[in-house]
Amino acid sequence: MGTGTLHIDLDALAANWRTLDARTGCETAAVVKADGYGLGVASAAKALAQAGARRFFVATAEEGATLRKALGDGPEINVFSGHMATDTDPIRDARLTPMLNDAVQLARHRAALPDAPYGIQLDSGMNRLGMEPADWAALRAEAEAGPLTLVMSHLACADEPDHPHNTEQLRQFTEMTAGVTVPRSLSATGGILLGPAYHFDLTRPGIGLYGGLPFAEAAPVVRLSLPVIQLREVAPGEHVGYGCTFTATRPTRIATLSAGYADGLIRAMSGKARLFAGDTPCPLAGRVSMDLLTVDVTDLPEIPEVLDILCPAQTVDDLAEAAGTIGYEILTSLGPRYARRYTGRAA
Ligand SMILES: *Cc1c(COP(=O)(O)O)cnc(C)c1O
Repeated sequence: MGTGTLHIDLDALAANWRTLDARTGCETAAVVKADGYGLGVASAAKALAQAGARRFFVATAEEGATLRKALGDGPEINVFSGHMATDTDPIRDARLTPMLNDAVQLARHRAALPDAPYGIQLDSGMNRLGMEPADWAALRAEAEAGPLTLVMSHLACADEPDHPHNTEQLRQFTEMTAGVTVPRSLSATGGILLGPAYHFDLTRPGIGLYGGLPFAEAAPVVRLSLPVIQLREVAPGEHVGYGCTFTATRPTRIATLSAGYADGLIRAMSGKARLFAGDTPCPLAGRVSMDLLTVDVTDLPEIPEVLDILCPAQTVDDLAEAAGTIGYEILTSLGPRYARRYTGRAA
């Protein structure tokens, strides 16, 4: 194998959905945007549907059309970006439910597809998507006159439980949705963990399903194994990689692995991330390049065929911290070159 292998445990994915579902007394949807957070939307969504998810969320209508092919009829597919000018065909053909974000989208949807269901996204203080209180006050009667299925908003700071913006958004959302008779949804993964006041009728977890923070008890879903292409001995004083940023201080054994920043292992990890042979860490030596990593394996008694960069000893969030980013970005950057190998019931 010339490329790495991304092992995806669909049983762990399903277990994470069930654990988050058990945290609330309401319905639990599943967010599978960005190709199921980089893991492959068809397999991820089928496993989540088997676990019991009946409503899915994606970012765009194009993603929704792809998801509909994978899931078939039945599950509801909601689109965060709403109804854009070019979305009428996919919304109709794939039976998608757009989350309408403003007056233009509401008018467009009602005119183009008068009988097609829709949700409304409200802005409760994030200032990213959705109707602001004044827009909503003006549009609410019209919105409630059609086949409205959901009213939702999104929290900006849910991964910081003590952030005062959480209670402020909760207050704003509660006020804006007083008297609404359709299901209401405020929380993604972080909001589920904030407690029952944030749950309303439906939650929308994403990252927690895939094993990422802020869901600290999540079962790990991914393992990323990279093949060793070449081994070499480097004498004290010799350098490794672009810019000669690593200099051997002892007789050093360097393994060259097949993956690099083109595969989402960003250059900012240079000198910080580690590779694992079982539980034994091996530091990166020198800079991450486009297709290759160089790793100091001097302390390994035996060199395995592959080393892991994501595994229980170095989680998605550990790797994110080494790279100065968040687990979401690590997962969604994992490139198309890896062989994605699914294990578990839905595989
Ligand atoms: C991405 C997203 C989610 C899922 O968030 P996680 O933090 O991954 O659980 C839910 N709702 C909206 C509006 C989103 O954009």
